[in-house]
Amino acid sequence: MRDARRAGLSLSVVEFLKLLLLVLLLVAATPLFAAEKIVASRVWPSQEYTRVTLESAHAVKHQTFFVSDPQRLVVDLEGVELNGELKSLPARIGENDPYIRTVRVGLNRPGVVRVVFDLRTEVKPSVFALAPAGEYKHRLVLDIYPAHPADPLLALIAPKTDPIGEIGRAPVIASTDVGPKKPAPDATASMKGDVAAKIAADARPDAAVELKLGIPVDDAHDVAPVAKAGAADTSRESARESAKRPVPHTDRLVIVAVDAGHGGEDSGALGKRGTREKDVTLAIARRLKDRIDKEPNMRAVLVRDGDYFVPLAQRVVKSRRVRADLFVSIHADAWVRPDAKGSSVFALSERGATSTAARLLAQRENQSDLIGGVNLAVKDPVLARTLLDLSLTATISDSLKLGKAVLTELGDINTLHRGAVEQAGFAVLKAPDTPSILVETAFISNPDEESRLKDGAYQDRIANAVLGGIKRYLAQNPPLARNKVAAN
Ligand SMILES: [Zn+2]
Repeated sequence: MRDARRAGLSLSVVEFLKLLLLVLLLVAATPLFAAEKIVASRVWPSQEYTRVTLESAHAVKHQTFFVSDPQRLVVDLEGVELNGELKSLPARIGENDPYIRTVRVGLNRPGVVRVVFDLRTEVKPSVFALAPAGEYKHRLVLDIYPAHPADPLLALIAPKTDPIGEIGRAPVIASTDVGPKKPAPDATASMKGDVAAKIAADARPDAAVELKLGIPVDDAHDVAPVAKAGAADTSRESARESAKRPVPHTDRLVIVAVDAGHGGEDSGALGKRGTREKDVTLAIARRLKDRIDKEPNMRAVLVRDGDYFVPLAQRVVKSRRVRADLFVSIHADAWVRPDAKGSSVFALSERGATSTAARLLAQRENQSDLIGGVNLAVKDPVLARTLLDLSLTATISDSLKLGKAVLTELGDINTLHRGAVEQAGFAVLKAPDTPSILVETAFISNPDEESRLKDGAYQDRIANAVLGGIKRYLAQNPPLARNKVAAN
């Protein structure tokens, strides 16, 4: 019995050694069998930058370097299998890509896949890894920026030339050249609009009122039709009137930054029928820009005009670079219950949210950076200055006024989800000196509202309502002189 047991034991020792050998062999051979697979590759071209995303179950080791004559960016992916997804990458590069001419993918040496980007111009790439977020697994992100980016203010003035569409779809004239093109129907003073007056208006809007109306500035505020429009009448009737009324009172160009929420990797909320928030917000933002540009003394700048991601803080920076007077971020709400519906408007809060729902919404919207993908290693000095230097308090009070005006107009075309402007810590609303609001146009998670959000005519109605609110606000709060707005 005892011998038999000993024999069994010695047998299992042999078995154990065999097993150990097998395990060692397997471990040694692992790199051959367990190469990482790229499960998805995506390309997001834009005038601002082109992003290439490679998604995989685990983080991918990589090395990046440049080769010149001609300019190429080389990315070596270590321990990655050259699969169909990677081989499909060249086909994903559009003919109109501003920065990438072509891509070549091939096995460079055992276990290393080499991706070569043939470039159109001198670029400054930013390559970084993202941990899993939202629906995504690990992502390796290559952001290919131009080495010499276009000046956004120049882009505002120059006619649009890029095929993909970026800032400044319509040519915009320098502010001192722009006065009301037609007299306001209810204007009491003649709109002589000579250049001198306009320059004066740009330097000091109150002086322009004096020039135009021939009455002292202090009185002008009481006499001008603008001031009347600003009376505390919030009836629907007056809302409709204010939407029709041109923005009076100042000859200086009012610039509105129109921010289409989400974009690129970040689809935003999804409708039950597959509508993506990022598409709806861009469609509405474009319509809003078109409406604003039709106003004689207003111009809109799209913060993004394409399907690519702009980090939240960069949206603020872009708005400041074009010296926007107002910032309007367009979104579509979502909730687990499909019967949640209505429009709502939000402003920033420095101290906590006005409700739990507002706090949760801000959390969800702020996740945009995680899902959209931001290289946290890059510290933008302009960004730091923009976000830290100035006090937000005065701006928030103006943001609430702007929000109330827009909410009133939205109440004409949709039920209101919340009857008052709510506040929470939205990262995208942190422009220190620009009244900023976030508009949740409707619930994309509500099937009825989802189909309306996709409808061009309804998108126009939303754009009209937002413009109506902006004009309503401007009528009561004419913009300050241009030189008071700091630019970066
Ligand atoms: Zn959103």
